Amino acid sequence: MQENQIVIDAIINGEKVKTEKQEPRENPARPSEIVGFAPVNTREDAIRAINAANDAFAIWKETSIEDRIERMKKAIEKIKDATPEISKLLSREHGKPLYDAEGEIGVSLMWMEFACNNAQEVLSSEILEHETGKTIIAHDPLGVVAAITPWNYPLSLSTIKIAPALLAGNTMVLKPSPLAPLAVSKVVELIAEEFPNGVLNLVHGEADVGVELTSNPNIAKIAFTGGTGTAKHIMKAAADTIKNMTLELGGNDAAIILKDFDVNDERAMRRLVISNFLTAGQICMIAKRVYVDKEIYDQFVDKYLEVANKWIRVGNPFNKDVTIGPVNNLKQMEYVQSLIDDAKSKGAKVIKLGKVLDKEIFNEGYFMQPTVVLDADYQDRIVVEEQFGPAVPILPFDNDEHAVELVNDSIYGLTSSVWGEEEHAIKVAKRIQAGTTMINTAAVQGLDVRFPFGGVKQSGIGREYGKEGLLAYTDTHVINVPINGELPYIPE
Ligand code: NAD
Repeated sequence: MQENQIVIDAIINGEKVKTEKQEPRENPARPSEIVGFAPVNTREDAIRAINAANDAFAIWKETSIEDRIERMKKAIEKIKDATPEISKLLSREHGKPLYDAEGEIGVSLMWMEFACNNAQEVLSSEILEHETGKTIIAHDPLGVVAAITPWNYPLSLSTIKIAPALLAGNTMVLKPSPLAPLAVSKVVELIAEEFPNGVLNLVHGEADVGVELTSNPNIAKIAFTGGTGTAKHIMKAAADTIKNMTLELGGNDAAIILKDFDVNDERAMRRLVISNFLTAGQICMIAKRVYVDKEIYDQFVDKYLEVANKWIRVGNPFNKDVTIGPVNNLKQMEYVQSLIDDAKSKGAKVIKLGKVLDKEIFNEGYFMQPTVVLDADYQDRIVVEEQFGPAVPILPFDNDEHAVELVNDSIYGLTSSVWGEEEHAIKVAKRIQAGTTMINTAAVQGLDVRFPFGGVKQSGIGREYGKEGLLAYTDTHVINVPINGELPYIPE
């Protein structure tokens, strides 16, 4: 092992557990460089972690909310102190530029703080005194939560689950993606240290571990973020024991540019470009297809290219001038390229954007120069599939009716955005099928941890963030004390 490589362990019942087999994690900017090694856990390890979490639940659920908040706040301080080290590690294993990695930690902390500040109010029982008696509406913890997360935002998509689950009195077994397992493990370790053994467990591995986590009878809830295809397997695995679930899945988020959008508003255009290409397009809520009113289509495209060419600078994630790093893995890169090639072969125009700053590593790493695709067909794969990478189609529409029709013609409904005069944009927004619609910005930039976030249709079930994101880890328990518990119409 080399000096700057790190090895992480699983955490089961408060103990660091080594595995016989370990998986190397490469640096996507220089795949010959191994950043570190993650354990490859077995189903047996997953069962041990679930049993530990189940035992811990019996004690943890009885602790006070004040105790839980205090522990979480200590974990927050430790993560803040470790931010410089963790962000560098995240950048190296993921490929996202350093500013982007720091931003991810920032959002994670913001959410953890929101959860701590609101837990008492949201999770406390409500007591109603009324004409028929007294009712307690309690928010009971569910039990052991299986949290399964993807590679694109490993830290924020884990803490989005850990904070509310533990604050509500649940315990957890978390499994991150093998494609970005290192930085998230450091964060989980810092949190787990502040909690009693078994409250927060960490296992690594692939689908076999995932299957155990989603079918084991001791798992009460699944909190999953990942692909819609994987979620279908998970729902089947969980069916036998009817588990509670929050599913945050894929999207094919659209941006609608209305005819009253000011194409010369450079800041707005820049927001749109960033909303298409941040993290090399590997964000669930990135604007993945852009529809423009045909009346302004040509001016729009000209200005878009001008602004995109300024902001997009591809290269080494540690180069401070770089805005976009490599794609996280070879499979994803090849998939995105196949969508571009497919559109091109059918006559679409492919335009590369921005500058390549670090040419010496461009061919070695999983770099793609961000691309817009013009003149694609509405049904081309680049338009209807979730590309999850730096390639975006821009297409014209005839009128608002047509735009709404095109946007809603999708199995997905995660986020969307409408750009133009405010009242007009809100009117169109109300007709879009999505969990979030932003006006004159897109979800990646308009995101706020106070807003409940999630999808409709095959983009998911349930909400994370906001007060709903705290309540998602509870079941409502009504305790009723009636003055007279008899129905008036039952005869003597
Ligand atoms: P993925 O579905 O391939 O993997 C997600 C996780 O599931 C990984 O930890 C993986 O190991 C695990 N897994 C794989 N097979 C499993 C099985 N049979 N049972 C249980 N677990 C299993 O997703 P990915 O490629 O890591 O992430 C990209 C996808 O995630 C995209 O579709 C993206 O839109 C989506 N995503 C959604 C949101 C959201 O909030 N809606 C956020 C980020 C990413």
